[in-house]
Amino acid sequence: RLAQRDEAGDEQRRRERIFASAQERYYERPMQIERGWRHHLIDTTGRAYVDMVNNVTGLGHGHPGVADAVNRQIRILNTNSRFLYRELAEYSERLLALLPDHSGPGGAAFDGDDPERPRLDTVLLVNSGSEAVDLALRLAQAATGRKTIVALREAYHGWTMASDAVTTSAYDNPFALENRPDWVHVADVPNRFRGTYRGRGTGPDYARDLGADLERLGSEGREVAGFICESVLGNAGGVLLPDGYLAEAYARVREAGGLCIADEVQVGFGRMGSSFWGFEQSGVVPDIITIAKPMGNGFPIGGVITSKRIADALASQGQFFSSAGGNPLSCRVGLAVLDAMEEEGLQENARIVGRRLADGFRALAERHPIIGPIHGEGLYLGVELVRDRGTMEPATAEAAAICERLRELGVIVLTTSERSNVLKVKPPLCLTAESADFVVAQLDRVLSTGW
Ligand code: PMP
Repeated sequence: RLAQRDEAGDEQRRRERIFASAQERYYERPMQIERGWRHHLIDTTGRAYVDMVNNVTGLGHGHPGVADAVNRQIRILNTNSRFLYRELAEYSERLLALLPDHSGPGGAAFDGDDPERPRLDTVLLVNSGSEAVDLALRLAQAATGRKTIVALREAYHGWTMASDAVTTSAYDNPFALENRPDWVHVADVPNRFRGTYRGRGTGPDYARDLGADLERLGSEGREVAGFICESVLGNAGGVLLPDGYLAEAYARVREAGGLCIADEVQVGFGRMGSSFWGFEQSGVVPDIITIAKPMGNGFPIGGVITSKRIADALASQGQFFSSAGGNPLSCRVGLAVLDAMEEEGLQENARIVGRRLADGFRALAERHPIIGPIHGEGLYLGVELVRDRGTMEPATAEAAAICERLRELGVIVLTTSERSNVLKVKPPLCLTAESADFVVAQLDRVLSTGW
């Protein structure tokens, strides 16, 4: 074991030699992970951890269905997508069939003339969430002939030039607020726990302020092309939007002639449990949806779902082509992921185990005053740690120490939010009730015995 610990040390030194300092890693002394199985990760010393952070591997690690799909398809064909591939059409149709009220390929159930219910019938596949966001912004600009994108404060949307420009989180990009390009407008974040207005019923207040921003932009000749936000505030730790916010925000954006983009990279794809998509929590239908992380269970796939009208506007900018985006291999993987999600009832598991986990955290909050609000839904939860529930002073140092101690006890959980004081809980959707109880018990132990 000692030799293997040295190996982890060597690995860290190796990393420091060849990677940039901005390339983030976790923990003071990160473990060297060698293997994953379902919702567990195993390090080189043979130690197993419950993995509470892997929202990319939605099915869990080492999924045999995905392994078989890769193995089979890579022997048959994997090339770029300028020809016709059955897998591409099949996967795109399967994605469209996941949309609410959808009655089959073509999006026939949507009323294309009702601006509140756009016809989402077109899929563009890329390789990552950043690319999906980048493309979504381009689509909004091309379709409206305008430039301005409205993003919310404290959000993460990716690392490419455009997705980074709408990444407003000071944690992820401390320089972003100063150097933001003039086509980006940053609107207030409707965080009902910490924001300008507090409480569930504050949706209309935030939406009204957004409306005032849109009016001001219009009067400055900077009419809105698109409004991008996560349907649940993922970067803040899974904070649910205040009642009515998204519906009213979308209505105001559409009234101003803009398009509504839902970034579902983190919160979509079954993780909410009670709904497949995050935007369904608010009863809205976006004009453009971005997806990525869990689509390939770790295999790089990203995508944009929109209407043909919007997608066709890209033609004004020439061709759209991604060498690896939508190749037969990634489509086969995507299909295998959707099959497994259905066969294993993972969305339902997210609902049931997520509720159990949230109930467990809420019960801990009764005994541990450091636990403030419990955010989220399904298996996207956030346990916000505060020094004082009245002032909401963030318990940032405590949160980091608690994560380190939890790791020693076999639970991998990390912090998020601008204040790094929220334990983000977004495990593979196959998390069992037994492991959920284990995680709650270990957190109880840390909070009871010190960290
Ligand atoms: N949007 C959101 C909401 C995200 O959380 C992320 C990744 N954390 C991205 C976009 C970018 O995705 P990727 O890392 O696949 O480029």
